[in-house]
Amino acid sequence: MSYDTDNVFAKILRNELPSKRVYEDEHALAFHDINPATPVHILVIPKGEYVDYDHFLENASAEEIVGFFKAVRHVAREMGVNEDGYRLVTNKGERAGQIVFHFHVHIFGGRPLGGMIKRVKEE
Ligand code: 5GP
Repeated sequence: MSYDTDNVFAKILRNELPSKRVYEDEHALAFHDINPATPVHILVIPKGEYVDYDHFLENASAEEIVGFFKAVRHVAREMGVNEDGYRLVTNKGERAGQIVFHFHVHIFGGRPLGGMIKRVKEE
């Protein structure tokens, strides 16, 4: 899939759409999810044009990759969820639930998160 420069996160990066930003550095931007699932629900995105996790790892430099994941860690600590614990999620592809095709990591926290994915009973 090729990168669509009109996706909503690209517009947020260019300041064409508003967002509640919590952190920015040369590699990453972090902002509140518009429809939070947990008391803390932050999206962290790289600044480069990457469609999803696979595309990011395939094409980004080692510096971008390390910088991005360090930013994720930093934001989690800044949001105060490091002590109690948090969950990182990235959806890769429509079937996994990805709706915005600019790579992003969700940081969920601020309450007990329970189990991960409900098991589907096998036939
Ligand atoms: P995905 O399902 O692609 O992993 O997650 C996309 C996330 O982006 C969803 O949780 C959704 O609520 C959030 N989102 C979609 N549009 C906007 C927007 O315009 N602003 C913000 N802050 N979040 C958005």
